[in-house]
Amino acid sequence: MRCPFCQYTDNRVLESRSAEAGQSVRRRRECLRCERRFTTYERIEFVPITVIKRDGDRESFDRFKLLRGIVRACEKTGVSSVQLENLVDEIETELQQRAVREVHSYEIGELVLQSLRHLSEVAYIRFASVYRKFQGINDFVNTLHHLRSDGTPDQAELGLTLIDSDQLNGTTNEAILSPSQSPSSRH
Ligand SMILES: [Zn+2]
Repeated sequence: MRCPFCQYTDNRVLESRSAEAGQSVRRRRECLRCERRFTTYERIEFVPITVIKRDGDRESFDRFKLLRGIVRACEKTGVSSVQLENLVDEIETELQQRAVREVHSYEIGELVLQSLRHLSEVAYIRFASVYRKFQGINDFVNTLHHLRSDGTPDQAELGLTLIDSDQLNGTTNEAILSPSQSPSSRH
């Protein structure tokens, strides 16, 4: 960081403190040449993330839209709203830390599924049913089978078509099961 007065590049930090409600660090510095003082702020880089939908369209990542889709899948599953907020926070943070500013909608869907499988089996199956556009009961059975064995179901193996993120927000919800119809309750 160059001194704003003499352009010299070396300085020493006199003081560091949290600023802007923890969103940044304020540092008071002193130039090693002219000894004048100046202040710098360090912040986490926040660059908009672009989501590439299945049809190739691009849109800005919208955490509220993502949250709405997950909330719908988790209705009456005992997963708390705090857990869902944390889930979305983790996904957004992971995306923010990537070097690439573009992400495919199916990658976001898989991140959601990875998290949901630890929270609720029913929520996992419901979200997968919408997101992977289940066509019939076999898709549910296969997904449940994979969920209980190990690993995330392989989309090619399931022979399923991914849907774009518009459908993550619940505009297409025919495939969402009510809790009483969930596959797990049929055993
Ligand atoms: Zn200076």
